[in-house]
Amino acid sequence: MERLNTVIQAIIERKAKQQGPLCAYVYDLDNLRVHTASLSASLPPSVRLFYAVKANADERILKTVAPYVTGFEVASGGELQKVRRLFADSPVIFGGPGKTDEELAAAIEERVALIHVESVWELQRLNWIAARRQTTVRVLLRVNLRQAASGATLHMAGKPTQFGIDEQHIAEAIHTALTLPSIDLQGFHFHSMSNHTDEQAHLSFIETCLSFVAQAETTYGRRFSVVNVGGGVGVHYNEPDRQFRWNWFSKELNLLLRRQAPPHWTVIFELGRFIAAHNGYYAAEVLDLKTNYGTHFAIIRGGTHHLRLPAAWKMNHPFLVIPIDEWPYPFNRPSLHNQRVTLAGELCTPNDILARDVPCARLRVGDIVLFRCAGAYGWDISHHDFLSHPHPEFIYLESSM
Ligand SMILES: *Cc1c(COP(=O)(O)O)cnc(C)c1O
Repeated sequence: MERLNTVIQAIIERKAKQQGPLCAYVYDLDNLRVHTASLSASLPPSVRLFYAVKANADERILKTVAPYVTGFEVASGGELQKVRRLFADSPVIFGGPGKTDEELAAAIEERVALIHVESVWELQRLNWIAARRQTTVRVLLRVNLRQAASGATLHMAGKPTQFGIDEQHIAEAIHTALTLPSIDLQGFHFHSMSNHTDEQAHLSFIETCLSFVAQAETTYGRRFSVVNVGGGVGVHYNEPDRQFRWNWFSKELNLLLRRQAPPHWTVIFELGRFIAAHNGYYAAEVLDLKTNYGTHFAIIRGGTHHLRLPAAWKMNHPFLVIPIDEWPYPFNRPSLHNQRVTLAGELCTPNDILARDVPCARLRVGDIVLFRCAGAYGWDISHHDFLSHPHPEFIYLESSM
């Protein structure tokens, strides 16, 4: 569970100390530590949990989760270098649809544990790069499953996308992998969706992955050792007090693996959103309130250049209002009561909207809007320097250890 009161208190204290309007990301590292530790502890022993760095690559987040994950999933040479600077020896797995020769070579140099290969051409290129270094690389083939689960916000498989290898072409890829001397085919990678909130459907998806590998073992008469089921566990953005029922899910997962995963398999999860989302917040002060053509707008010090997710997904980002009673001006304070409000940012584009027509009990200029579930794909996916407004502050809640 989130520590909302602690976060609100920290923001009120920060506001009291500062001059201009407040705009800050708050990362509750103490609670992130507890959350990641409990995720990791609940997983069956044959499962390895990796953190997908792209969800939030803040160094302090990486350092906080590091003790509780097996390692990191990186999706670029840049992420790889970032992880290696911080953790010289952590296991790293490397994926992504467009890897350059330089990135593949760096992955070998940096002793990446597994490379997720996304096409037959990439397989050949990797083999060539590894052969010239007189080494072999451990590889998973990324499968674009025909029967990937539906119901998530983003789907990378089960339909035409740039990800992975079409299940219809996988036989050729396996065949190629098995004949290339510098490729050591360890298994398969199935990351197929993001923001999946249906626990039962996510389990069925994992079952599909397991069946695929079992079938491949029969077809090729050999054992594989790694089944990477990817990430994709979701957040209820429209209902932030509700969470993916991880305890139920991990119990069922335990049973499923006991039934369907032979002991020579290691199952990998590479979670991003579900690790990072709930302990990150974005706080921004209301600069103006106005009613244009019947719609009430609050304009905040900040916007989608800091938190692009709601604009990208055309959704209302969940928020609450932190009342700030202090009012320095000698004239009336603009405010609205029991109205629907649209939260807009400070950018000069009508697309800078974080929530539209949302009921609000009271909002005044000078109050602070606190966006929840902002720790994953928030700051990291935003266009920070559009319009050259100052960046937010970053506040880390971390008791000294
Ligand atoms: C982004 C990504 C993840 C993490 O996905 P979440 O939905 O954040 O859990 C895992 N694996 C791959 C290959 C990814 O691209």
